[in-house]
Amino acid sequence: MKHKEQIEIVGDNHFSTSIETPLRPNAFDKSDDEKIESIQHHFSKIMEELGLDLTDDSLSGTPYRFAKMYVKELFYGLNPKNKPKLSVFENKYEYNKMLIEQNITIDSSCEHHFLPIVGYAHVAYIPQKKVIGLSKINRLVDYYARRPQVQERLVLQILNDLQEALGTEDVIVSLTAKHLCVSSRGIKDQSSFTTTLEYGGSFSKTDIRNEFLKIIGQEKI
Ligand SMILES: [Zn+2]
Repeated sequence: MKHKEQIEIVGDNHFSTSIETPLRPNAFDKSDDEKIESIQHHFSKIMEELGLDLTDDSLSGTPYRFAKMYVKELFYGLNPKNKPKLSVFENKYEYNKMLIEQNITIDSSCEHHFLPIVGYAHVAYIPQKKVIGLSKINRLVDYYARRPQVQERLVLQILNDLQEALGTEDVIVSLTAKHLCVSSRGIKDQSSFTTTLEYGGSFSKTDIRNEFLKIIGQEKI
């Protein structure tokens, strides 16, 4: 067990240890329903420990609602069976300029405090032989967002998968988000937000990257 001070340091600095989300080997041995039942039990204990009366009509259903929300909504992206199928198509138009999917909603959670990370992602790629359905990009972003996350890891996970599916390094992912663990606890800074940027291939060239940054910086629809 780490010293409590060390635990706080890891949380406040939002360190992450790897690109892969650290998962136990038996992470998905239990069904979703079994997980909901178990989490419901444990969360009711937390509520009781806080002094809450679970016989109250308003509180009695909270452990179940909480457990279902964790497994089915906030953290559905932990389970690989929920990963969207990234079907790609032949680039028949031979469109070979930048394609940008902007303002993709990010609803994630910080893995150090289990508080929301909310914001937007902008993703672009330069097609070669393959193109991807636009909504698939949104779905992939949502899938990786819906797990306990670190913002730097989230952009890398999205980038790596798109590079692999599209068969090109020419992908860029930018993410701007507000962390509730920064705004509502700790430093309690209400106005700051965090931007992370990961890219490969042609986006390593300053002029190509600047074209992307200029477009995402323009007025929105
Ligand atoms: Zn946090």
